[in-house]
Amino acid sequence: IFISFEGPDGAGKTTALNKLMPLLQERTNKEIVLSREPGGSPISEKIRKIILDIHDQEMDDRTEALLYAAARRQHLIDVILPTLNEGKVMLSDRFVDSSIAYQGGGRQIGTKEVGEINDFAIDGHLPDLTIYFDVTPEVGLARIKKDHEGAMDRLEKEAIDFHNRVYDSYMDIVKANPDRIKAINAQQAPDQVVQDALTVIVNRFPN
Ligand code: C5P
Ligand code: MG
Repeated sequence: IFISFEGPDGAGKTTALNKLMPLLQERTNKEIVLSREPGGSPISEKIRKIILDIHDQEMDDRTEALLYAAARRQHLIDVILPTLNEGKVMLSDRFVDSSIAYQGGGRQIGTKEVGEINDFAIDGHLPDLTIYFDVTPEVGLARIKKDHEGAMDRLEKEAIDFHNRVYDSYMDIVKANPDRIKAINAQQAPDQVVQDALTVIVNRFPN
């Protein structure tokens, strides 16, 4: 079982995932593996550093999109596929939809173009279920400002327009994939968000 978690900056995916892990583990004998993108394997974490350490102005948008796709490919090969082949449950904090929304929509490369390079990277290995953490850019960015002031450097350079485009792209992706993607209200209290994510997963995979 392969489940990805998606949403804009400040949606609370990482926090919710850390709380969700033990609750899920209580309900299954299968081992659960938690990973993240960009990153998730040694090579992919190096690519993450390249992408996130460099100022946006210095990197071409398509170079950025290719690096995200490359990191995803290696994460798939090194972690996701071996985990699934061993019959374990794979949880990924971000996957392909992030690239469609951020590079395709946010950077305006085009969702079709970014979709194509990612099709090449993932070679058909889409998640069985994707949980979308729905939070408006205003609420998400306000949370990040409050939680870790230092981390705002990169985000503050990006216009709010960028985050609005990311949000709009995510909405399009959610609408276009109703069978795979389930949206939850991530503006609720943290514990309620975790409960809603758990309910979605248990309903989809009762055993
Ligand atoms: O999810 P996480 O906070 O670890 O993401 C790290 C950063 O990478 C975030 O600022 C996110 O907006 C950005 N990102 C991106 N394009 C992706 C995935 C993440 O710009 N495809
Ligand atoms: Mg996070």
